[in-house]
This record gives sequence, structure tokens and C-alpha cells, in this order.
Amino acid sequence: MSSIYDTIIIGAGIAGASSAYFLKQKGQKVLVLDKQGIATGGSGAAGAFVSPKIGKGGPLQSLTNEAFVFAKDFYLEHFPRCYHQSGVVRIPKDEADAKKFAEYEPHNENSYSRWDVEMLKAHRIKVPFESFFFDEAGACDAPETCRALLEDIDVQICAIAKISYRDGLWVCVPTQESGNEGSSLYQAKSIVLATGYENTLFDVRYMGVKGTWGTRGDFRSQLPMKVSMHQSMSVSANINGIIRLGATHEKGVMEPKPCEAEQALSLREKASSMVDTSDMELVETFCGMRAGSKDYFPLVGKVIDVPTMLESCPAIVRGAKPELKYIDNLYICNGLGGRGFVFGPLMGKMLTDLVVDQKEPDPRVDSDRLFLKWCRKSPELDDIR
Ligand SMILES: Cc1cc2nc3c(=O)[nH]c(=O)nc-3n(C[C@H](O)[C@H](O)[C@H](O)COP(=O)(O)OP(=O)(O)OC[C@H]3O[C@@H](n4cnc5c(N)ncnc54)[C@H](O)[C@@H]3O)c2cc1C
Repeated sequence: MSSIYDTIIIGAGIAGASSAYFLKQKGQKVLVLDKQGIATGGSGAAGAFVSPKIGKGGPLQSLTNEAFVFAKDFYLEHFPRCYHQSGVVRIPKDEADAKKFAEYEPHNENSYSRWDVEMLKAHRIKVPFESFFFDEAGACDAPETCRALLEDIDVQICAIAKISYRDGLWVCVPTQESGNEGSSLYQAKSIVLATGYENTLFDVRYMGVKGTWGTRGDFRSQLPMKVSMHQSMSVSANINGIIRLGATHEKGVMEPKPCEAEQALSLREKASSMVDTSDMELVETFCGMRAGSKDYFPLVGKVIDVPTMLESCPAIVRGAKPELKYIDNLYICNGLGGRGFVFGPLMGKMLTDLVVDQKEPDPRVDSDRLFLKWCRKSPELDDIR
């Protein structure tokens, strides 16, 4: 039996789940397909801290902070059980960083207070630097949040080998291994690619999505930590006897590998400069890829028809700027980097406004922004340049 959906989303991480939620809210019939299930990619590994970005200002900081406000309001209103609003203390890394905090302060756009060393000590944080405390920040339960967003939405476990467009409809073709060849009749008017670091279904090289491998650990502890904190790593509040430590950034990992307890234990070692880790016992290790874009901004938009553009206007590789041609009804929501649970809801909303109302996404996240530069500069196109 074939079933026609308004939109099929490929990928059930926070990008796909947020997009599905908002599309459903707009009355769409939505199907989500994931090769392994809900929050089984990078989103399942996330400590899912949701906090503002500090720094000297600039477009990425303001976008992150807008997304932060949207996300925490969204979680508190719709999914309060998934969001633990513990507050997050942002701690300087060292003396030099502590000096920079003074320059960062005018750019703190979200509610915060300054915590001196005494205040930190009262909260069992043993760091000798004045810090910022963002009271509205916190952390999500990552898989729980994705599951809650997808409640009442059709989700199927199915690895997609390819998608093709026929007579105004997209057809998703599962891989042979996924064993659901019969379901190759998953059809929809629109497709959203929310596949994280894996982008084999279409030529989206211009977006430069890459994975950064990371590990986090959940530790059993009696330490009565009421707040979460971030220095060069994050330590969560103690929630039901568990403190989450995250995360490593492991370079050069191209493909997923088994999670390594040593990586989680290295985080405990690192955390010991901030809090007493003596009773922390590793309960579970999580790991996964964070999918980031070339310029660290998220990616929301239509997918450009790269082969057609290169063929119809080869001069594009030398700086010509023809009108962009898109693949019909094919969209992307990706590049959430290390802040999927901060960016997810706002990006899912922008994606929905684009799919349903054809409202262009914010130019800061519009995936078109990277195309012309990729054509001019990418070594991948050297042979035709
Ligand atoms: C260790 C770690 C710690 C992190 N900590 C935080 C944090 O504290 N705060 C925060 O906000 N973010 C954090 N993140 C980042 C966050 O997890 C990512 O931003 C998020 O995972 C991006 O979500 P996504 O939906 O784009 O990708 P993913 O979660 O990777 O989802 C992509 C999905 O697509 C599926 N898929 C791919 N190809 C196919 C196909 N062909 N057919 C079917 N399915 C397919 C995959 O199975 C996968 O489930 C962390 C990430 C890691 C790894």
C-alpha cells in the first residue's frame, strides 16, 4: 500500500524532529525515516546543554542567543519535562580568559549575574575566577526531547538508499539491507534532508557538512550540584543521582566507532579542576558525530541543483553569478554543530515557514550562502576551473 505524505523527513535527530514538529503543527501529514531510530545519531550522544554564547558579539553570537531564547521558551512551554533549567555557570579557562570576560560582558544579551569566588564556592565550584551565571540556561534530556517532539508523528526505521522525483512526487527507496523493499512506496510532495554528517543522497558538497566526533559520560554521584557549568567542558547539575560530563572533540574520526570509556574517564579527570569528582562512577558512555557547516552557522534552505548549474553555466566556477536553480521540493535542515538543542527548534520553525509558506529563511542560515563561493574556490572543481 502506498501512502502519500506532504513531507518526508530523513533523519530523526533534533534537526529532523524539530522540523517534523513544526510541519505537523502547520497541519502537514509528516513521515520521519531514520535508519536506526529516534536520536540514534549525534543527537543521542548530546549532553544537550542549552546555554547562550559568550564573546565579543557578532552574527554567530547573536543568532545563537536568539536561538537560545527561542529554544528555552519552546521547551518550557511545550516540553517542560524534557528541559532541566538548572542555570549554567560560564567559567573562564584561565587568567587570560578571565580578563576577556570583562570584554564579553557588554555582549551578554541574556539574563545573567556575576558570580564571585565565594558564590562559586557556595555552589561547590572550586575555580578562582569570577564567572557569569545564566539562570535561564539548562540541559535537555536529548533522546527524551526528540521522542517528545515526534509524539503523534509517523516514524519508521528505514535506511534510505536514494530518493527520486516522479510525476511531482518524491519516492524514497530503502537500502536492500534495511529489509523493507516493500516500503519503497514512501512518497511525499516534499523531502527534508536532516541526515546529520552523512549526506550521500544528494550533492550538497557546497554546504561543507563535516562531523566532529565526541564522547560524553554519565556518572553516578552524591555531589549535590544544583547548577550546571561550562569551562572548556560541561558538567551538569546532579539530576536523580547522575552528573553528565561532556564532551570531547576528537579530530580525524571520519566514521562512527564504538564508544570508549577512557574518553569519558578523561572528562572526569578534566572536571576535577572544577568540582569534586572523587565519588563519580561511570555509568554509561555516549558518543557520536556533531554535524557542522563550513562557517559554523546552521543550514536551512532549498537544495541547489548543482549538476544542472555547473552544466548550464560553467562560468560559475570563475565568478559568474547566474540565477540559482533548485531541485523541486527538496530541503535541508543541518549544520547544527555542537549546539543542536539550542538551534533545533528555531531552525525547525524556519524550515517549516519555507516548506509551507515559501518564506525565505534568515540569510544567516540560508544554505544558499555557501554555493557561489564553493563554485569559485573549491579544489573539487579545479578540473573544470
Ligand atoms: C558528544 C556530543 C555532545 C554534544 N553536546 C551538545 C550539547 O551539550 N548541546 C547541544 O545543543 N548539542 C550538543 N551536541 C550536538 C548535537 O548533538 C548535534 O548538533 C545534533 O546531533 C545535530 O542533530 P542532527 O539531527 O542534525 O543530526 P543527528 O542527530 O546525527 O541525526 C541524523 C540522523 O539521520 C539518520 N540518517 C542519516 N542518513 C540516513 C539515511 N540515508 N537514511 C535514514 N536515516 C539516515 C541517522 O541515523 C541519524 O539518526 C553534542 C553532540 C555530541 C556528539
